Amino acid sequence: MKTTGRIALTLSGLLVLAGGIAFANRDAIMMRVFERALDKAMARDVMATLDPKALHVGFCGTGSPLPSRDRASACTVIVAGGKLFIFDAGEGAGETLSQMGLPLGKVQGVFLTHLHSDHFEGLGPLALQRWAGTSAATALPIIGPEGTQKIAEGLNIAYGPDGGFRIAHHGSAVVPPSGFGFASTVINPGVVYDKDGVKITAFPVSHGPISPAFGYRLDWQGKSVTISGDTTTDPSIAKIAKGSDVLVYEVLQPRLVEEMAKAAERNGQPGRAKIFRDIQNYHVTPEAAADSATAAGAKMLAFTHIVPSLPKPLMRLVTLGADKHYAGPIRTMRDGDLLSITGKGEPDHRNLLD
Ligand SMILES: [Zn+2]
Ligand SMILES: [Zn+2]
Repeated sequence: MKTTGRIALTLSGLLVLAGGIAFANRDAIMMRVFERALDKAMARDVMATLDPKALHVGFCGTGSPLPSRDRASACTVIVAGGKLFIFDAGEGAGETLSQMGLPLGKVQGVFLTHLHSDHFEGLGPLALQRWAGTSAATALPIIGPEGTQKIAEGLNIAYGPDGGFRIAHHGSAVVPPSGFGFASTVINPGVVYDKDGVKITAFPVSHGPISPAFGYRLDWQGKSVTISGDTTTDPSIAKIAKGSDVLVYEVLQPRLVEEMAKAAERNGQPGRAKIFRDIQNYHVTPEAAADSATAAGAKMLAFTHIVPSLPKPLMRLVTLGADKHYAGPIRTMRDGDLLSITGKGEPDHRNLLD
């Protein structure tokens, strides 16, 4: 055998031997990988990576009541001056926020746009993550239209036994009894928060028969974000959103939803067909949202509450037509996305779940 052949044989022998040793020790190796991943996750400090002078908009739920594995239900978080302001907390929002790595101990409150369940079903898990994860000493503030107090009362009753179990098990130092549950504030349109330079204004939107329904505008250090909430075409939104750096708009593509109604009919499901037709008249089309962004002079249009959510290669069908009605940048947001408004050019974009 030539020398090169012997070397090749020896090398492959060594590789097989190394593979054999790794296989025999695979459990220990996996444990080591797990430990390293844990350290990385525990030490993660997303806030330290955020520009403290920028206004940040995070997307902790970009879905709707239509079930989606890719999107939690309605949730937007704004980070201003190191504090977190959450707007709606639909199903999956608490988990998504936790996975995004934003510090729940900095949450100032959850502002509800309206009382459709896809906007508050995530409150329970969110409150638990905040309470147990940060040893919060005060109940989670939830601020919203008339009826918000009933949601707080109901959740406090529903989660009461769970709260008692956790206090008994982990102790009051880790889960302070004063931090359990929800504290509600019912608001009317107008300025609903004005502290440390952060101003939040609630405004009425058209989501009939659901009333009241609000959108919110947040202003901080000359930067602003407006959130439409759930609404049909409503000219008043452009007025209140005037000059916003980011206009966060819900969107429903009626052409696609009509196809869903027809498919339900073809398959003998008239009830679902009716719902798919009903929902078309209290949400906004991509074109109308884009018109509103143009009238507002908004610097960016960000779509959320996507109806329907499609696989990524098809997503452009949902917002089709918007670019003919608005010349600025348009983004269809994904869960985990974060926009950072620095005041210079288009907001920076990254995804905290990738
Ligand atoms: Zn909704
Ligand atoms: Zn709604």
